[in-house]
Amino acid sequence: MKKLGFGLMRLPLADPKDHSNIDIEKVKEMVDVFMAKGFTHFDTAYVYHGGKSEVAFREAVVKRYPRDSFTVTDKLPLFSRPDRAGMEKMFAEMLERCGVEYFDYVWLHALGKDLYNFAQEVDAFGYLSELKAQGKIVNIGFSFHDSPETLDKILTEHPEVDAIQLQINYIDWEGGWVQSRRCYEVACKHNVPVIVMEPVKGGSLAVLPKKAEKIFKDYNPDASAASWAIRYAASLDNVVNVLSGMSNMDHINDNTSYMEDFKPLNEEEYKLIDEVSKIVKFAIPCTACRYCTDGCPMKIDIPEIFKVYNDFKKGGKERHQGLKRYKEEIIVNGGRASECIGCGQCTEHCPQNLDIPKLLSECALDLE
Ligand code: SF4
Ligand code: SF4
Repeated sequence: MKKLGFGLMRLPLADPKDHSNIDIEKVKEMVDVFMAKGFTHFDTAYVYHGGKSEVAFREAVVKRYPRDSFTVTDKLPLFSRPDRAGMEKMFAEMLERCGVEYFDYVWLHALGKDLYNFAQEVDAFGYLSELKAQGKIVNIGFSFHDSPETLDKILTEHPEVDAIQLQINYIDWEGGWVQSRRCYEVACKHNVPVIVMEPVKGGSLAVLPKKAEKIFKDYNPDASAASWAIRYAASLDNVVNVLSGMSNMDHINDNTSYMEDFKPLNEEEYKLIDEVSKIVKFAIPCTACRYCTDGCPMKIDIPEIFKVYNDFKKGGKERHQGLKRYKEEIIVNGGRASECIGCGQCTEHCPQNLDIPKLLSECALDLE
């Protein structure tokens, strides 16, 4: 397959206030351009867009293209701690919502240390292996958010895993919680192919500080900031596909333009990325995955508040725009940062391991 995949987690919305109300007609147009340029891989999940991402995939792809013209990943969530019957029910829903008889890849969604322990309790890997033997899954694996040591343990204990999904981008490559490089090296050690998620870090590497933007533009005025991030991930030998959560036709046109005839980064380009990584900083490294939002009793739009806060912290014009957006849009549509009651329901779902209540109190102090 070509090295760019269509991530179906940030699809265009028919109603911007309702994350589960997807604009299917726009998705169809985007899919048509994507497929016409020879790209074939899609990535969805049971939880994306409140379950409606799988439906959008069915309507825009499955009903309109032959099954052998595309591949798809879906993800079985263990967040609600399902037993065997619960997993069977969800998998049946996944097939039904997507309108397929089999999946090319099924991951256990967002495994980390705790969720892995639970997966062992309910023999979730054994369940996926049974589905594979029945022909309902071609490749089994998991998407992962935790330390390289935990990844090594899982891959050692489960040699039956065919492929995995890792968060890799040039900001997380060396640092912090994510440790992309070390996780990637663990996958290589186990000879497990990698599909990359969050190459643009939830979109935050698509718009860079002026100084960083200039470094890229001086070298290649036509290349978008996102193209540098996606090519960075795709240049790794053991990466078979890089997912981009595309939300509009501009994303499709830009991504497909440089991935149609993909060229890995050269030495000079790697050096420029090193320079840029030293400049780019985020107050809150949220990737806007929205795993935290569904169960919030105060209906707080956590990722939007964090996005506004990151803009606010950049200063200048963006500080002003961030404040304006917080007052005029975000708290009109949902809860304020200061309304967080610290119940902690959100934190256990955050793949970036963010202390969400604490960060919200910082946002409240500055934004309110
Ligand atoms: S800790 Fe705050 S933000 Fe998180 S779910 Fe509870 S109220 Fe919502
Ligand atoms: S706070 Fe965590 S769970 Fe919520 S959107 Fe950001 S990265 Fe995702």
